Amino acid sequence: RAKSAGGNRYELADPEADARAITRHGLTTALPAALDRGEFFIEYQPLVRLGDGSVRGAEALVRWLHPQHGVLGPDRFIPLAEHTGLIVPLGRWVLEESVRQARVWQERHADAGPMRINVNLSPMQLAHPGLVADTVEILERCGLSPSALCLEVTESALIGADDDLLKPLRRLSEMGVDIALDDFGTGYSNLANLRRLPVNVLKLDRSFTQGMQQFPADPVDLKIVEGIVSLAHGLDLSVTVEGVETGAQAEQLRVLGCDTAQGWYYARPGPPDRLHELALADATG
Ligand code: C2E
Ligand code: MG
Ligand code: MG
Ligand code: MG
Repeated sequence: RAKSAGGNRYELADPEADARAITRHGLTTALPAALDRGEFFIEYQPLVRLGDGSVRGAEALVRWLHPQHGVLGPDRFIPLAEHTGLIVPLGRWVLEESVRQARVWQERHADAGPMRINVNLSPMQLAHPGLVADTVEILERCGLSPSALCLEVTESALIGADDDLLKPLRRLSEMGVDIALDDFGTGYSNLANLRRLPVNVLKLDRSFTQGMQQFPADPVDLKIVEGIVSLAHGLDLSVTVEGVETGAQAEQLRVLGCDTAQGWYYARPGPPDRLHELALADATG
């Protein structure tokens, strides 16, 4: 099939691009009903304190159990939900479900110390006027302290953010909610800009930890991470590292002074009961 593109020029339609477009379109139109039918679920990936290896909480990662396509990861549908605005109710559902789950962990593991929950926020949720009220309402209804919640916002969402966009984050931060800058290092933010942002956790992107899979690590990667950690600590930010896949990485990141780690070396994202087991193993020895 050839599409005329005006004049005597033409393009051949790319059948693969068509298939992708149909899938995207199909997925996009199926999103609202999927939310109504309860097709989304959350997996939790532990966050581990590097100093002593204890589980301090988990990040909530949403998945879609699609009736035809099976389990879809967030990269397949979050951008579509963001595009149509469905991310607002979907994100609110993720927040409520994760906060409720964190409360269950706290009740079952009072000895293991407070279990914290990290939830991703997309740019449209950040700009939505109901964010602060919804968050407060969910925390109160589920009985979770604001200090047990960390909201993750990507660096790219905050680049160039004006004060209006930062205001809700600032209010949440003043209430005791942690704010993490996710995927740090993948954007091009000015490091000095960090001072302006109501952020108290830096999540170093996986690309930084990749050079540390072997021992000894790439010396340039080590220097970069060392510099970021010292800058972050100088600004009173704690540092979480993503994508830790080996013990060698974990050890080097610990030596470099990173505070918290997350990655397959500890656990893949999984059902909430998996975190019970890990926290319990922790508390009992
Ligand atoms: P993210 O917030 O940076 O989450 C970390 C991603 O890295 C997750 O991918 C996780 O499964 C993956 N990961 C964790 N440890 C390792 C490791 O050791 N090695 C490797 N190779 N990967 C690891 P996932 O679950 O596919 O999520 C992708 C992105 O989707 C997330 O990146 C986040 O930006 C977004 N996302 C997930 N859930 C939500 C949500 O509820 N709301 C919004 N707005 N975004 C979400
Ligand atoms: Mg995240
Ligand atoms: Mg991340
Ligand atoms: Mg990432």
